[in-house]
Amino acid sequence: MFTPPLARLIEQLQKLPGIGPKSAQRLAFHILKRADKDAEALAQAILDAKRRVGFCQKCFHLSADPICEICRNPSRNQNLICVVEDSKDVIALEKTREYQGLYHVLGGVISPMDGITPEQLNIQPLIQRMAQGKIEEVIMAISPSIEGETTTLYVGQLLKPFTKVTRIAFGLPMGGDLEYADEVTLARALEGRRDL
Ligand code: ZN
Repeated sequence: MFTPPLARLIEQLQKLPGIGPKSAQRLAFHILKRADKDAEALAQAILDAKRRVGFCQKCFHLSADPICEICRNPSRNQNLICVVEDSKDVIALEKTREYQGLYHVLGGVISPMDGITPEQLNIQPLIQRMAQGKIEEVIMAISPSIEGETTTLYVGQLLKPFTKVTRIAFGLPMGGDLEYADEVTLARALEGRRDL
């Protein structure tokens, strides 16, 4: 049996995604072995991130500021919006360095099975963005799953009256996740986008 404070640490670590009992133990032992200041820095970083990081008011990407760095960057193409499921996808697309437009993070995909309806996603703010600026193209870049496909078609139909809507050309298998695609595949998918 672990002494209670250690058991609590292991218990908390085990709640993290992808961390089983063995990994939780290993991480806890590692934290105990390191200097006090390392443990404090870790705890502080968790608290800081939790307190300070929210959503960009414009694109809903994770941001410590009301408007994120991407939306604030005047050198980005303001007439192009790429619609993604969540912030991890923004990071993945940014890594390709191919895309110079703005983003819109939906915050999930439509999934009746999980009780996720269009109203719970950031779809309405996306429609509002259409009215605010002259958007020349919206690129749908949602991972190819049944829910992703439903979302792409649903959002695409809503946007078509306002602008040209395209979708990235996925070389990925059904169910393949955008965030796990390598940079070259993603760059090609962007480049090979076609009309929805
Ligand atoms: Zn933003």
